Amino acid sequence: MAYTFERWKIEQSADLYGLNDWGGGYFHLAENGDLMVMPSPGEISNAVSIPEIVEGIKTRGLDMPVLLRVENILNSRIIELNESFLSAINELEYQGAYVGAYPIKVNQQQQVVERITQFGARYHHGLEAGSKAELIAAMGMLNNKNAPLICNGYKDEEFIDLGLYASKLGHFCILVVEMPSELPLIIERSKALNARPVLGIRIKLSAQAGGHWSDSGGDRSIFGLGTSQIVQAIDLLAREDMLDCLQMVHYHLGSQISNIREIRTAVNEACRVYAGLYKEGANVKYLDLGGGLAVDYDGSQSNYLSSKNYSLNEYCTDIVEAVMTSLDEESIPHPTIITESGRSLVAYYSMLLFNVLDVTRFRAGDLPETLPENCHPQIQYMFEALNSLSIRNLQECFNDILYYRDELRNLFNHGKISLRERALSEKLFWAAMDEIARKSKDLKQVAPELEDIERALADIYYCNFSVFQSLPDAWAIEQLFPVMPIHRLDEEPVRKGILADITCDCDGKIDRFIDSHGFNRYMPLHELKESEEYYLGTFLVGAYQETLGDLHNLMGDTHVVTVKILENGEYEFVDEQEGDTVANVLSYVAYDPKQLFNRFRGTAETAVRQKRITPQERREIMQAFEAGLRGYTYFER
Ligand SMILES: *Cc1c(COP(=O)(O)O)cnc(C)c1O
Repeated sequence: MAYTFERWKIEQSADLYGLNDWGGGYFHLAENGDLMVMPSPGEISNAVSIPEIVEGIKTRGLDMPVLLRVENILNSRIIELNESFLSAINELEYQGAYVGAYPIKVNQQQQVVERITQFGARYHHGLEAGSKAELIAAMGMLNNKNAPLICNGYKDEEFIDLGLYASKLGHFCILVVEMPSELPLIIERSKALNARPVLGIRIKLSAQAGGHWSDSGGDRSIFGLGTSQIVQAIDLLAREDMLDCLQMVHYHLGSQISNIREIRTAVNEACRVYAGLYKEGANVKYLDLGGGLAVDYDGSQSNYLSSKNYSLNEYCTDIVEAVMTSLDEESIPHPTIITESGRSLVAYYSMLLFNVLDVTRFRAGDLPETLPENCHPQIQYMFEALNSLSIRNLQECFNDILYYRDELRNLFNHGKISLRERALSEKLFWAAMDEIARKSKDLKQVAPELEDIERALADIYYCNFSVFQSLPDAWAIEQLFPVMPIHRLDEEPVRKGILADITCDCDGKIDRFIDSHGFNRYMPLHELKESEEYYLGTFLVGAYQETLGDLHNLMGDTHVVTVKILENGEYEFVDEQEGDTVANVLSYVAYDPKQLFNRFRGTAETAVRQKRITPQERREIMQAFEAGLRGYTYFER
């Protein structure tokens, strides 16, 4: 009989890893199984192989892990956001404009802010600063005087003065009143510096959004003015003859708002406040809706926390339409709409690439055909249960085997069975679990405890990165990020595993993976090959992850490599920032590497005197120590 061998297809890999659901159109698979990245959605003709970039990085002398940025994608995101608003405005014949402001806190790295101001220049895309440090960065980076420079956050005199100076220099700088107490100080400093500020007012909305960051909205939100405080503020401004300075209404509902309904509700409420201020005689022209535009990390297009139930076009259309409808009712001119999208701009263009170092498997290797003589009876019972497994007695055998396993552990703890017997019983146990998992696939209905076996059997892939440094949200708030191999995608991934990082912390792992049903407890992976690296990538990590990360186990910043895709799949390395060395991270926690070196030299010299080592060995040891200080904090091959 002819035996046809169905070859695994790249389309199957794409489905398995949900690539087309979360990838935003920036990724696809090549026939050779490589994951390809594209400069803008669907631009396959200019796609570049990610494994090829990895080879290029290694040839240039940098080891994994590496944070890879593809700067074209950032450009593309800025275009998409602005163009979506512009086309909604055109279609609906909205009379106002749109302008974006990038909130620096989402990724403060100079290179990121620099690129955003550069790529965003034609749209006058501005910056949002929430602190003095961010304002100083923004004042240095932004030279487009038509782009807004929005000052949020708790402000002291110095912060206010900086904002006023920015205005004097011609920046379109808006000081947002976040707290009632800021206003008298802003008025006082404006007079002192003889500046006429543009003011915004941050309002508290009663509308509240779900999600991790929901406390930003609602009556209990930390920042913003309630309606009675707003009234006091306009009275004060009117008394000071500064009501014309109040030009913007601002709110921020929270980040990653998954549900479009919440966005609409908030816009409606804000428009009422805007209309109220207009009628009170304020010179309002700008309506700033803050951030919240979500990223579909799991690709489910749902209102799950890690997803969103709307497209970018729907977001823009809904906002423009809601503002129009509300304000037309009261015959109020349409404002310029501002949004402060951060996550949605920067998430896509960074990916963390790392290699797999090792794997632990729970599934048993070869089993003995017969048991050794004089084996403990409990082991024999377990062996018999294993051999009698069938689809009909799965649940019963499962219970029995768990019982024998617990008995055998007790026997071992009381010294009744040997180390070898315990090892044999473990092997039988995992073999039984493996068999039960396999057989339970044929069951129509699987008992919940049998379903958990699959998870218990998942391999552990040890990966060269630190969750705490590179994916802090995966650890701290169980944020889901897409993870997948970047090559071999023309091969079926036959293993199931979770990922452990190299911090050896029991929390240093990824064991929740995107899935169209919420999340899964393991992911499909390929077998490791003897003499070949296996590379994985974590995607959509450009927002919030870089500076939130910490030095757990003194794993430092990874290398950051930026590429720019040119025509015809050509690309260039435009920037490389080397990650922290061991000496760097030690100095962050107040060690002096020179002093450490000298102390260690003292120890080595004492060892020479005591004839434990030769002077020649001392030299080699000191060289190793010095190389260690200069080295990368991650695993180096
Ligand atoms: C954090 C923050 C943002 C960014 O929100 P995203 O959801 O990342 O777009 C915007 N505005 C303010 C005031 C913020 O605090």
